[in-house]
Amino acid sequence: MSWQDDAGRDLVRSFGPRMAMFVRGEGAYLWDDEGKKYLDFLAGVAADSLGHAHPVFVDTISRQAATLAHVSNYFATPPQLALAARLKRIAGTGEAGRVYFANSGAEANEAAFKLARLHGGVDKPRVLSFENAFHGRTMGALAITGKAGMRAPFEPMAPGAEFIETSIEALEAAMDDRVAAVFIEPIKGEAGVIDLPEGFLRAARELTTRHGALLIIDEIQTGAGRTGEWFAFQHEGVTPDAITVAKGIGGGFPIGALVTFPSAAELFYPGTHGSTFGGNSLGTAVADAVLNEIEESELVRNAAERGTQLRQAISEIDSDLVSGCRGRGLLVGVALSRPVAKAIVEAAQVHGLVINAPNDETIRLVPALTIGDVEIDEFISLFTASLRTVEAALLLETASEVPA
Ligand SMILES: *Cc1c(COP(=O)(O)O)cnc(C)c1O
Repeated sequence: MSWQDDAGRDLVRSFGPRMAMFVRGEGAYLWDDEGKKYLDFLAGVAADSLGHAHPVFVDTISRQAATLAHVSNYFATPPQLALAARLKRIAGTGEAGRVYFANSGAEANEAAFKLARLHGGVDKPRVLSFENAFHGRTMGALAITGKAGMRAPFEPMAPGAEFIETSIEALEAAMDDRVAAVFIEPIKGEAGVIDLPEGFLRAARELTTRHGALLIIDEIQTGAGRTGEWFAFQHEGVTPDAITVAKGIGGGFPIGALVTFPSAAELFYPGTHGSTFGGNSLGTAVADAVLNEIEESELVRNAAERGTQLRQAISEIDSDLVSGCRGRGLLVGVALSRPVAKAIVEAAQVHGLVINAPNDETIRLVPALTIGDVEIDEFISLFTASLRTVEAALLLETASEVPA
């Protein structure tokens, strides 16, 4: 029996066939079960911010597992308090911010949805989010996810959620005093790395303040330094009421959090929310060490600079398939001129490059924040080779359409 047979038989059918069987990783590289080496520009979907098997990650997990892994939320632990203080500092909440710990992005957004209900009550039942925005797969997070196809099999959804077009005008038209919260994904990663319109976050802040609604920013994919600031909202100089984080803060360890600013920090009261594993000392120690490493090694600046360098190098690739780049820092969406993203991902796999296609016309690049010149050069050569493979296949297709 092959691993493909095992995977096909034993794993839930909600994911497509697994593309490879990975057995080991180091830095920006992965190795499969046949010893083939890959350059990883997906990094566990923006989660492995320090790459694979980083010494800080390995040492912290080992040391904390041997010290204290989990005690429940009846008790405090030093790593939990250290991470809460760090998240408040890098998010800029000030003294009066508070942190709720979860184990994933969806769970962080569940907490944020409950925060919105606590704020709005029955008088403000409306919760706005945007077409194509992704907030997670659990029922609450799904209810505010702007992809009708994802929600449809699971109707009915939690009431109150509405989806609006991502424009300042549409938001302005939709706002009234019955809105409890507006959820914003600052760069729509799963939708294809789609940037917000100019001035959108500032307008949203102004409108939510005017109508007494919370501004909740989903920084799950954009956070932890990926866009060249700790959090994407910081590029725009706005202060949200809450942000949700996950993915990159754990460096590969599952952890999420809801970080509330003073304006929303007192909404949860005893008994209103909780999680057995949320804030466990193992996960919080790892995330605190990962964020500390990002800070000490200036990886936020590296994300900005490497992002610029990567975009520049992509723009110099001589291929009609590539039409431009979206996103910011090391959250890059390569826009394609033809719907061949899946074919490019498959070709890349053969050439030893791991990338992903959030839709048919976009390649998403979210490498570790630790990458340097060597990885960027290697990426460009592997990516160019993958484009050539697809171009050759397209030429063959065209040729076979011409009558002999
Ligand atoms: C990945 C993601 C989520 C969901 O996080 P999970 O850890 O998969 O539950 C939510 N929002 C955004 C913007 C994401 O990118």
